[in-house]
Amino acid sequence: MAHDETLRTRRQVLALAGGAASAAVIDAKLSGAAMAAAPMMGVLRPQIYRFKLGAFEVVNILDGYIQPPSFHPTYGNDQTPEAVAEVAKANGLSNKFETHYVPTLVNTGKELVLFDAGNPSGRQPTTGKLRSLIETAGYKPEQIDVVVITHGHPDHIGGLITDGKPTYPNARVVFGEVEFDFWKKGVVREARKDNLEMFNRIAVPFGEKATFLKPEGEVVTGIRAVNAFGHSPGMMAYHIESEGQRLLVWADVANHYVMAIQKPEWHVGFDDIKDMAAATRKRILDMASTDRVPVAGFHMPFPSIGFVEKAGGGYRWVPASYQFNL
Ligand SMILES: [Zn+2]
Repeated sequence: MAHDETLRTRRQVLALAGGAASAAVIDAKLSGAAMAAAPMMGVLRPQIYRFKLGAFEVVNILDGYIQPPSFHPTYGNDQTPEAVAEVAKANGLSNKFETHYVPTLVNTGKELVLFDAGNPSGRQPTTGKLRSLIETAGYKPEQIDVVVITHGHPDHIGGLITDGKPTYPNARVVFGEVEFDFWKKGVVREARKDNLEMFNRIAVPFGEKATFLKPEGEVVTGIRAVNAFGHSPGMMAYHIESEGQRLLVWADVANHYVMAIQKPEWHVGFDDIKDMAAATRKRILDMASTDRVPVAGFHMPFPSIGFVEKAGGGYRWVPASYQFNL
């Protein structure tokens, strides 16, 4: 009995000293429990994030990611490698970076609207997960009513087709008119030759039954197109509004949360019309920061929802925290 009392006293003393965990360890040792080391299991990423926007629900889904070895010359295409490395370092980043691919699904209560189809499955081991994650999130591919293609690049159209068939068999596809016409004309820069072949193979067959929008055109009530030409000749962003709550799905207006937002005027290798893309970037960053409109950014770090603030002659990306859960 005296022994038990001693133990209790030791536990109480440790707990009072803020050592509740130590007390637990002593308990485990005394009871003879095995202390096996847990195996290392690698990075575990969040892949699905759903939140409310007025009467709508919005789901961001991580189709995948890649880790390019160097920002330059993709970012700061018209700058020196040193200038780009300096901005990376000032933001606590190395030259190696990560690009996320994040389509947005909106449930308006009447329709399920998917913005972009993600990468083709099998393009890389770390991409092309959208369809299976849509199911994980609780939706069937057959339930998707509309797929809006912001622009014709591979990471946005690739997932329209799975095993030769439409991935979302009941969906109406929406293209920007200028964008679709650009690819149909078939005059592209050298770097987009493979992309053109892919657009013809994957996207053009949807053209027969598709809807084509001009800027300000409406997808469904509460969702309208915004001119974002430049990254590709006819890219569109989309403005979503429900019960006074707003969200800008900006597609590839800015493709890295530091480089393209702090230095919006810098040329980006992926941009098809570089001056126009930079001008669009500045216009939309200015609008997002002035109006404090939250943004869903296809290539922003997952969950890819944030705000833009003016800072130091440029802008900065401020990830959302719990604002949308309240
Ligand atoms: Zn993209």
